Amino acid sequence: MKNFSPIVNKIALSIALALTTFSCDTDTDPIDVYQVPAAIEPFVERFVQEAAARGISLNVTNLVVEIGLLTDEDEDVAGTCTNGGLTTPLIRLDTTKNWWSNGDMIREEVIFHEFGHCLLGRPHQDDVLPNGDFASIMRTKSPGLYAFYEFLDVNLSYKRDYYLSELFDEFTDPPCWIDESSALSLDFFPEFNTDGFNTPRQFLADGQDVFWISTFQNLFILNSSEVIQAVNNTNSNFQAGFGNALAVDQNGALWVANNIEGQNYIWKHDGALSFTLVYQSEQNPTLPNINISALSFDTNNRLWLATFQGELAIEKSDGTFEVFNENNSDLPAGSVPKLAPGTAGNMFILLGKSFILDPGDHQFQIFNFENASLPNQTLTNIVTDQQGNAWISSDYQLLRYKIAGNQFEALDMIDFNMPYSNITELVWDTEGNLWVATRLGLRKLIGERFSDFCSYHLGFDHWDTSTLGFDPQGRVWVSAKELIRFTQ
Ligand SMILES: [Zn+2]
Repeated sequence: MKNFSPIVNKIALSIALALTTFSCDTDTDPIDVYQVPAAIEPFVERFVQEAAARGISLNVTNLVVEIGLLTDEDEDVAGTCTNGGLTTPLIRLDTTKNWWSNGDMIREEVIFHEFGHCLLGRPHQDDVLPNGDFASIMRTKSPGLYAFYEFLDVNLSYKRDYYLSELFDEFTDPPCWIDESSALSLDFFPEFNTDGFNTPRQFLADGQDVFWISTFQNLFILNSSEVIQAVNNTNSNFQAGFGNALAVDQNGALWVANNIEGQNYIWKHDGALSFTLVYQSEQNPTLPNINISALSFDTNNRLWLATFQGELAIEKSDGTFEVFNENNSDLPAGSVPKLAPGTAGNMFILLGKSFILDPGDHQFQIFNFENASLPNQTLTNIVTDQQGNAWISSDYQLLRYKIAGNQFEALDMIDFNMPYSNITELVWDTEGNLWVATRLGLRKLIGERFSDFCSYHLGFDHWDTSTLGFDPQGRVWVSAKELIRFTQ
């Protein structure tokens, strides 16, 4: 990451990390005197957890950490480790130095460096990787190897899992980010280019195992010859239009909503390249004709749709739509809604900073940062799990809404091995695993921990991922700089 180095240098973080070794008194038995200041305690917990995630059981019962001024001929000493072999490891940290005010990741890196000396017995190590980056946080200078500075748009947090693996095992292989390639076997579809309008918007497999791709301009099918084919009035009775929001109903049929000359059209796929036009706003004045942002079916197979102006419309049994908006309901004003069906006829709705539960009777229950433990941020994505709970993303955060108990839980993204990754999409794969597309690539949730950055690294040009989906064969389709497909 040559681009980032000058920026980091520019903000002049001068943290030199020093090791002070004292001769030890080998007659002394280990003393159980765990003493760690509250401000440092979370980093001890993280360190033990990161060790455990790598199969290492650490004993920290005699760790002593002291916070105080460190004076040295080098004024930049952030911390020291005194490790007398069998005696109590003693770490001193000077939190008056600038490392302490440069964010969570730099605090962690300095403290973990000292833990490296004191708890893992690692000496300094100034080797570099083939790209010139330091190979280890046990280096003696140049801090912030996996720093995150949101205000500077510098995010090196994706390097963290490598540096921690190296800390616990110095023979760890060099990381994927030292060059531009990917270890995955990738298929590219450059005609879907994110520079233009032909950016994939949605990937969806229907109940007949047909795989669909929509862009804002077009609808595509992956045909039986594995060719991506545009669907339009030259090969079907489907009329191309703008938008192309997709959903699959409870019977497995694909539905498409698009807008043609200011009118909304809702189509149902009948098989092969045949479609039925089910609704058209010109014929059905209850159907809003603002562009449709999301289409969904609840478990009672009722059609729900949301518009780019924040309206919700729900199909009634007589074929008309009941429409809710800021004027006729408690729905908040403004942004583009996202929909995710619950497992009991209910619907989850994201609208700006609000999470909304419609139990099915349109008595909306509205949660936000003012009345629930939600972040004061726009909620960006929502999916439902098999238990009927909702998973919600917001910038760098994932939340779980548990329907039993009506509770939100903010996941600790560091515990989950995905610190400071800007989330662009959440999707379940065909085996029921949650995947996350981020500005720093793809991650798969395995148990309670996301895969390492390098597990699904698409290469430098392609790590800014957005739309994500899985075809019936379980292959991964992801929109990055262009459309990419690979097998897990
Ligand atoms: Zn050191």
